[in-house]
Amino acid sequence: MDFLGIKCHFFLFVFINSVFISEQTKVEVLLDMRAARGEMGWLPSPFANGWEIDQRVVNGSQLYTYSVCKVEEGEQDNWLRTTFIQRQPAASRVFVELGFIVRDCSSFDGASLTCKETFNLHYAESDADVGTSFHKTQFRKVATIAPDEITAGSELRVNTETRTVGPLSQKGFYLAFQDIGACIALLSLRVYYKVCPATVQSLAVFPETVAGGAESQALQEVAGACVENAVSQDKPRLYCTVDGEWLVPVGQCQCSPGFEAVGEACRECQPGFFKESVSTEMCELCPKNTEESATGSQSCGCKGGFYRTPEDPQTAACTAPPSPPLKLVTTLTPVGKLKLSWSPPSDTGGRDDVTYSVACERCEGTVCQPCGDKVRFDPGPSGLQDTRVGAGDLEPLLNYTFTVEARNGVSQFSARRSTSTITTALQYTEPPKVTSMHVDKRGSTSLALSWTVSQRAQPQNMRYELMYRKKEKDSEKDITTYTVLVLENNSVQISDLAPDTAYLFRVQAQIPGGGAGKYSEDFKFATLPEVDSQPQGNTAVIVGAAAGGGAMLFLVVVVLLIRKRRRNPTTRQGHEDTYFSSPEQLKPLKTYVDPHTYEDPNTAVLKFASEIHPSHVTKQKVIGAGEFGEVYRGALKAPGHKEVPVAIKTLKPGYTEKQRQDFLGEASIMGQFCHQNIIRLEGVVTKYKHAMIVTEYMENGALDKYLRDHDGEMTSYQLVGMLRGIAGGMKYLSDMSYVHRDLAARNILVNSNLVCKVSDFGLSRVLEDDQEGTYTTSGGKIPIRWTAPEAIAYRKFTSASDVWSFGIVMWEVMACGERPYWDMSNHEVMKAINEAFRLPAPMDCPSTVYQLMLRCWLQDRSKRPCFNDIVSLLDKFLRSPDSLKTIADFDPRVSIRLPSTSGSDGSPFRSVSEWLESIKMSQYSENFTCAGIVTMEQVLQMKNEDIRNIGVRLPGAPKENRLQYPGPERPDQHT
Ligand code: AMP
Repeated sequence: MDFLGIKCHFFLFVFINSVFISEQTKVEVLLDMRAARGEMGWLPSPFANGWEIDQRVVNGSQLYTYSVCKVEEGEQDNWLRTTFIQRQPAASRVFVELGFIVRDCSSFDGASLTCKETFNLHYAESDADVGTSFHKTQFRKVATIAPDEITAGSELRVNTETRTVGPLSQKGFYLAFQDIGACIALLSLRVYYKVCPATVQSLAVFPETVAGGAESQALQEVAGACVENAVSQDKPRLYCTVDGEWLVPVGQCQCSPGFEAVGEACRECQPGFFKESVSTEMCELCPKNTEESATGSQSCGCKGGFYRTPEDPQTAACTAPPSPPLKLVTTLTPVGKLKLSWSPPSDTGGRDDVTYSVACERCEGTVCQPCGDKVRFDPGPSGLQDTRVGAGDLEPLLNYTFTVEARNGVSQFSARRSTSTITTALQYTEPPKVTSMHVDKRGSTSLALSWTVSQRAQPQNMRYELMYRKKEKDSEKDITTYTVLVLENNSVQISDLAPDTAYLFRVQAQIPGGGAGKYSEDFKFATLPEVDSQPQGNTAVIVGAAAGGGAMLFLVVVVLLIRKRRRNPTTRQGHEDTYFSSPEQLKPLKTYVDPHTYEDPNTAVLKFASEIHPSHVTKQKVIGAGEFGEVYRGALKAPGHKEVPVAIKTLKPGYTEKQRQDFLGEASIMGQFCHQNIIRLEGVVTKYKHAMIVTEYMENGALDKYLRDHDGEMTSYQLVGMLRGIAGGMKYLSDMSYVHRDLAARNILVNSNLVCKVSDFGLSRVLEDDQEGTYTTSGGKIPIRWTAPEAIAYRKFTSASDVWSFGIVMWEVMACGERPYWDMSNHEVMKAINEAFRLPAPMDCPSTVYQLMLRCWLQDRSKRPCFNDIVSLLDKFLRSPDSLKTIADFDPRVSIRLPSTSGSDGSPFRSVSEWLESIKMSQYSENFTCAGIVTMEQVLQMKNEDIRNIGVRLPGAPKENRLQYPGPERPDQHT
């Protein structure tokens, strides 16, 4: 059969179709009939009369095809074997793509029944080219190839069929086409395998991979390698499909430290950037306080003076140690401890982990040494997050230097220490306690004793008070005769004792200016039995001080009454020097000028007070209410000066011009004073709408409240020290001829060192702003309880009336803020005063101090001491603390409303026990009942003596007169 007339068209068509197929995927062609453009050299079998080769020139190119068409010749078995096809080692499965035409059998008139429309594809593997040696039996059938479209008429229908052949394992193979009686033209044959192309994905390189690889799996796992400067935890992998496509990446590569991904490569970080770790992140800009990094940096080093802790990430800014703590101050607390406080450093070094530690040195004279564990810090000496710490166990008379260091996480890397230091001399503490006592030598009438004190730095000039007595029988316990010796050394020899007798000894250490310590326990020592006849006697006589040369100072015999003290002596500590040790400032040369003498009060303000710009004043917190407006705590930062804490008095809106002048009048007065016990005026704001008075800030506020809040915490010595300060301020005012008129504990302010300062100087004296003020008939207001009778009666306000008020302040102070005359009405008070009643001694009040109060309350003002006398006297008390030892008689009945002043309402107490309860003396309830005293009327009729006789022990030594009356000639009116 001849197809020649149509062959050219047929080939052109096939050519186009072939290009289309090959563009789909990346393929490696092993054999391409069309591309060979020459005779293929295939082997037909039988050699003749079977498959034939046809040759044509199309567009100048030689084209070869094979055909067979033995449809009319009965059964056929015509083979056409290709040349040896070399297999690529990786290609175990190849694709065989055939282009062919099959003629329809029915289109042949004479075609035999054996006419076929299919042919078979076979393959045979071989490790070598076998040349023309051909054995059908060596071939394995791949498939029967049938056309999709059969060619019946003149229009040729070309079919393309692809089959896979494999798995293949030998070096090459042959394909063979078996015709069994069809009319076929084989137009093209392409043998190829597919590959997954080399690729870089997710920063990993994958090699070109033959699809359907050696194991001929559908998906072939291919391991990749990270690109340069990238790493991965899981080996990167991709799957190559049979169709030559990459699928499902596993294991991500990431750029190494110092490198960042740009496309599918890792590039070094640019200068000024860094990358710390293996990650997909980009390089980061170097953080604050670092040096500019070089190319490819994994971190940015800190600039000089800046650091990172090992815990700080490289992304964090470099930080520095903090600056020193600010405003380090010490505050002496009433119980003899010290409070250190400070403000956080202005520069935290860029960190929020600032902590503080405190170190301390103590200096005795010029010898200084670390405090070690001799000073206890509360909550501890280091790791402090708060800006304060308490220091306890301080010893007297030593200078302590406290160094507070601010530290943060990088302080350890720097030699720089951020410290603030303050030195405080703790002048006072409780004297040490005598802990043990020994007999050094014993005779029948003498004992040589010595004792030791608790091991603390011992103050100089320490003295001892030794008390001893014969050991009494129990029944004699209440009243005992003691012999008291005051000694300079810790040993003594006592003679003239009774032989073979037990004595009890107790010792108390005392420091001058520091009060007395606790008494030791009683030590019992007995004399030896009499050997020879010795003079008898129980009067103690000191025959000499023990070796060491301690001089005997005093010998006193006292009757000691067992008494209940309200305050626990163990809490008695203080720092007297803070109250009064600084020398008085120069005596004022000038006298006070009443701002009223100025025609324009504004001129007075400008003369006596400096003007402050309001922007220099910051209000922080309301701390009180003044007559004219709120009082604030705040800060004053004047240019060129350190910031100081201040109190700011404000003038509330809506004031009248008169109110404004009165308000500023206080500043005109205060501005004229300059004394450590007078509140200091910092300045005024007058030129702006909101006028202000700015004074020094007094941390502990008003004295009356302070005393009430610290009731029982202060010793008499400390209280007298405070009074000394107030008296100093008043002396200064009286020297300047200023009469205060409202001297009361509420108008005394207390600073952190417990220095007391007189305040409240109003122009609108008499006391518009004092709640205690009572309107008088003349329209003024007078604080009755604090005011001298002549000032109440005819407004005779003088320094002598201020002295009366000072006496009341003394009483307030010694009574720890108690209200003078308790709940008596003003009317009752005035009546009582007229009847010569005076406030009784507060509990535990030294007799000397009470005597001074009484002198301040003398009816005849010319007989009252002046402030100069008061200052001298208080100084004397403080110089010899012994003068404060004798406690004024305390009459428990003074708290009873006095019949003479209480009018018809009588006693507010319904029963004796209720009354005793109110004065915390319930333990004597039985004494009263047993003595038949069962009503308050009976109580009021008792004399001090009667009270003592029924077994009530009153504090204090017996006094010859009733102290709350100025003259001994006065009758006991209130009993
Ligand atoms: P005054 O108007 O002066 O009586 O002040 C009213 C209250 O404000 C006082 O009782 C104090 O509690 C408080 N105060 C006044 N001045 C100061 C100050 N300089 N320091 C601390 N607190 C003060």
